[in-house]
Amino acid sequence: NKYYGPSFQETERIKSVNIPPVMFNLYKKPLVIHQGHMQWLFDHQGRRYLDLFGGIVTVSVGHCHPKVSAALHKQIDTLWHTTNIYRHPRIYEYVEKLTAKFPGDLKVVYLVNSGTEANDLAILLAKAYTGNHDVISLQSSYHGYSSVMMGLTAQQAYRAPIPVPAGIHHAMLPDPYRGIWGGCRDSLSQVPNSCSCIGDCDTSDKYIHQLKELLENSVPAGKVAALFAESIQGVNGTVQFPKGYIRKAKELIGKYGGLFVADEVQTGFGRMGDAFWGFENHGIIPDIVTLAKGIGNGFPLAAVVTTKEIASAHTKASYFNTFGGNPMAAAVGKAVLEVIEEENLQQNCKETGKYFIEKLMALQKIHHVIGDVRGKGLMLSLDLVEPGTKDPLNKPQFANILEMIKDSGALIGTGGRWGNILRIKPPMCINKEDVDFAISVLDQAFNTHSKKTI
Ligand code: PMP
Repeated sequence: NKYYGPSFQETERIKSVNIPPVMFNLYKKPLVIHQGHMQWLFDHQGRRYLDLFGGIVTVSVGHCHPKVSAALHKQIDTLWHTTNIYRHPRIYEYVEKLTAKFPGDLKVVYLVNSGTEANDLAILLAKAYTGNHDVISLQSSYHGYSSVMMGLTAQQAYRAPIPVPAGIHHAMLPDPYRGIWGGCRDSLSQVPNSCSCIGDCDTSDKYIHQLKELLENSVPAGKVAALFAESIQGVNGTVQFPKGYIRKAKELIGKYGGLFVADEVQTGFGRMGDAFWGFENHGIIPDIVTLAKGIGNGFPLAAVVTTKEIASAHTKASYFNTFGGNPMAAAVGKAVLEVIEEENLQQNCKETGKYFIEKLMALQKIHHVIGDVRGKGLMLSLDLVEPGTKDPLNKPQFANILEMIKDSGALIGTGGRWGNILRIKPPMCINKEDVDFAISVLDQAFNTHSKKTI
């Protein structure tokens, strides 16, 4: 489709006047994106890019996937909105199909509009059910952006200097690469010089001990409403925990009266490859699961899934949400689940993800700027360092590498507490040919960088 809209220069002018100054530019020369098709994005001049970031893990089955677009069109022409005071077939079909993907008693769904809203509601449910008020998340986590979520989110870059609600605590981050105790993780790539435990990793006990300390010394009365954790930390650059940590953390939190909330906003919907949900890799069934991003392939849709028992603690006040679970979002959500099944996207994440991480590990052998390769399925990261150290790569050189990758036709994400992580979370439909292209682009960018630093 031909581009229509303001020119690049006009977007610069509008940005300076009408766009909040807090919005950052990923690139030195920003992109104007006009169109998308499956794993491809096109800029205003028609230049094609391989999308390795999927709108931050959001485009799960492919940009403008024909089946999802068709489902949305059909609904758009039928009914947009009623508020959920009536029964609507799309919503009923969808919640039944979505919960069929969950184990145990996770059968009740609240449909909402964003991950922030889902986690906010999860806090409310946990407090209502347990009668406790304190909530814990892991250091450097991201769970949303609102005046409440800014407390749970523990990455300074996303926390405005405002007072956040009392009763939110941050537990030590069990990070095998940058943490003080090392550790081994559930990944093809292992942390250099780390242990290689069979079964649970010994270091997980040290972090569990720290969590216990927090529960006993910082949480008043030793009672807690919930622990929130992702199965693999997303925004912080694909941090995978030592084996056994999540299972033991859930057990411990239960002893202190709390629920375990799995934030599957990034890790869900088959992206991990060998499981549909990230929490399955940890051998647990959470009490509450929050979903967003990939659930709607880019359409505003999010959800909180829990048990009837927990949901029953929240019946004293009516629940109302104008747009949560509108018929268009539900039609999209159902089509996304169907596409994942019909196109075997979970299996593709497993196979293409394995191919990708092996190629990245091979790159690591020749480029000393790659300190760590990690991830699972199609959720991967490269931790860029000053060669020979674990110090995060300096910002100017990181920015040059990022720009070079873009100029060579691939879009990649950034992340991590120090902003030195390259994040790879493409639409789940990418294939090995795309991986080969991505690897050649990365290789070229790192070559230029290495030449510069020698
Ligand atoms: N949880 C996680 C793990 C996320 O990565 C994000 C978004 N980056 C959120 C919650 C918040 O989602 P949203 O931006 O839809 O509010």
